[in-house]
Amino acid sequence: MRTDVRKVYVLDGGTMTVEASSMVPGTGFGQPLVIAVRYFLLETARGYVLVDTGNAPMAIDDPVGAWGPELAAAVNARMDPEHHPYEQLRLVGLGANDISMVIYTHLHHDHCGGARLFPDATHVVQRSEHRWAFSLDPFAAFPYNPPDYRHESLQWLLAEGDWCIRPGIHLVTTPGHSPGHQSIVLWDTPDCGTVILAGDAIYCRENVQRDVPPGINTDLAAASASMHRLTALAQATDATMLVSHEADFYDLLPHAPEPLARLSPDVRRYYDEGVRHLYRDALDPGHAG
Ligand SMILES: [Zn+2]
Repeated sequence: MRTDVRKVYVLDGGTMTVEASSMVPGTGFGQPLVIAVRYFLLETARGYVLVDTGNAPMAIDDPVGAWGPELAAAVNARMDPEHHPYEQLRLVGLGANDISMVIYTHLHHDHCGGARLFPDATHVVQRSEHRWAFSLDPFAAFPYNPPDYRHESLQWLLAEGDWCIRPGIHLVTTPGHSPGHQSIVLWDTPDCGTVILAGDAIYCRENVQRDVPPGINTDLAAASASMHRLTALAQATDATMLVSHEADFYDLLPHAPEPLARLSPDVRRYYDEGVRHLYRDALDPGHAG
């Protein structure tokens, strides 16, 4: 398949420390868990594209000012100056003006916190996510921080379901974690083959291993179906799946300024034992994991 994508970079947005059962329900009640915050830079034939932007840079110095006391206490962000999106872009010799498009998996604070840093870009999100974020129901409002995305400087492009937005860049709807969550499939990239940026449809490989979707969701059945959709897609295309928050996995991957490459055998093994787990069970019902 023809693709505009030339290189994929993993950008580092620091960490958060959350209650473990919010990641994988039924595990780690009351236990703190350090999770990664990562987002992605795509070098394409027609400029540079970000997928998500991490947390608001204000959280480097003032998390309570960025989010208010409750959200700041819930996520315990560790964000150093080097994690500012401008600093991450500087690693590969870029500035804010080089970014022509920002695609959001969804509008939770740790995915769109840097939106306003890119006033000249087109900001792409599913229409259903945009509608929800601008009219939040209280029961699932807490991961949204409206100052991140409510700003007249942002030019939105609202996607209506699955969409091949550029050659090789495919938006795939994966609702459930949030109403308009989407994942991004990068088909046949030159250096790393097909890559699935899962967003929060899968937080970590334990979601897949236990067949339990992320603990924060607006529709649990949809979240489960979305997780299965992505793992099936990964299986069918031999894709590399990058989930949003698994710290151990990202410790194994190159980060900017090094571009992503095909996974080494060690990393591949870690990946195979996680993402493929469901399918091993399906092929061999006697396999107990
Ligand atoms: Zn989220």
